[in-house]
Amino acid sequence: MNNFLSQRSSLIDASGIRKVFDLAAKLENPINFSIGLPDFDVPQPIKKAAADAIDQGKNRYSLTAGIPELREKISTEVCSKYGWDKADTLVASGVSGALLLTFLATIDPGDEVIVPDPYFVIYKHIINVLGGSCIYLDTYPDFQIDPEKLEEKITDRTKIIILNSPSNPTGAVYSEECVKAVSEIANRRDILIMSDEIYDKFSYSGRCPSAADYSENTILMNGFSKSYAMTGWRMAYVSVQDKLKGLLNEMTKFQQYTFVCAPTPFQYAALEAMDFEISDKVASYARKRDMLYEGLKGKFEIAKPEGAFYMFPKAPGMSGSEFVEKAIENNVLIIPGSVFSEKDTHFRISYATSDEKIKQGIDILNSIV
Ligand code: PLP
Repeated sequence: MNNFLSQRSSLIDASGIRKVFDLAAKLENPINFSIGLPDFDVPQPIKKAAADAIDQGKNRYSLTAGIPELREKISTEVCSKYGWDKADTLVASGVSGALLLTFLATIDPGDEVIVPDPYFVIYKHIINVLGGSCIYLDTYPDFQIDPEKLEEKITDRTKIIILNSPSNPTGAVYSEECVKAVSEIANRRDILIMSDEIYDKFSYSGRCPSAADYSENTILMNGFSKSYAMTGWRMAYVSVQDKLKGLLNEMTKFQQYTFVCAPTPFQYAALEAMDFEISDKVASYARKRDMLYEGLKGKFEIAKPEGAFYMFPKAPGMSGSEFVEKAIENNVLIIPGSVFSEKDTHFRISYATSDEKIKQGIDILNSIV
């Protein structure tokens, strides 16, 4: 078998998360804090828009960059949200698809990407496969970026700084000062900022500060997977200002020869989703965040998350992996921080689940410390 594999296959290592799933497979009806998606279903009007599109025969390839009405609607929203004069938008097959297109269009072997640690797993694997180097920027314990430390990591090969706020896995939201300082550095040194804002609607203390407010070097990414529970529908977008229009064109070229286009009926559903309010869902997650934080903060060191639906506590007196093994022995499924980090000190809890499960989970986690 190995003879058939490319050398780059060995650059992808899924062993960390696989180990958790192997352990989890042995559990019956666990308290599952491992899932990275909302616990509600796609809202009915959005489902109907998808079904209508299918019924109406909107089932063929769309234009590579997406259906014009969706691109326009997204661009208009982005301009009003970030104060841009003009936005160009590519509709992509999930933020994961958008990430692949971005890195394909930007990374040459040896190029460096600054990845704040902890990080969302996909970034590092795509960068590695393309021969780029991840330069990790330690953001423990508050998960904010220290501009001085960031500046120390920059070299002549630095091409991109990744920002993901609210963050998976920490739930941290970068402060206004942090985002402003990073943008200033990116502008001065002419480095791209890849801003993954997939959780921006789940921001509990008002609007999430964005590099898109401060830097024309921002490749803005957002998607419909989390906000509208459309994870299986593979819908997302990338927007840029004029300065990066050429880059977006190259990404569109890569889309033409890979994904071809985002799923057409779901592009029509996304039009409907953009008019749908999820503030009740966000309020309910904010409440769950409070419940979990209050329940665990006595025994665990936790940077209180301001967004997404994740919490990233420190494992007390042992490694994150050891703590996760103990939790799984007690029927609670969580993910070791080492899946998202170069360190093995923390663990991720997803609290997108019922209040009852959260209460049970709190009791069990406290009992094994
Ligand atoms: N970015 C972050 C930070 C995520 O957590 C996820 C999914 O977990 C993605 C991107 C991928 O989302 P999509 O479903 O749009 O590919």
